[in-house]
Amino acid sequence: MCAAFGHRADRGRAAHDGRDYWSKCRWCGKPLIRSMTGWRAGGETESDAHRQLMDDRDRHRTDAGLD
Ligand SMILES: [Zn+2]
Repeated sequence: MCAAFGHRADRGRAAHDGRDYWSKCRWCGKPLIRSMTGWRAGGETESDAHRQLMDDRDRHRTDAGLD
């Protein structure tokens, strides 16, 4: 599906990690990153950085007593 038509981002679940918008492909579940030209699959390094940023954000939320 995605190989033929490209990934389709689930915009309803897009989240900003402090640097980029991320979502997931509705069809294959691959992490997608929003670029100037549209959604594309996130690279290995970008995905790692994203996980790191999200972890940091969760930790800050907990520290701030928001959860
Ligand atoms: Zn896909």
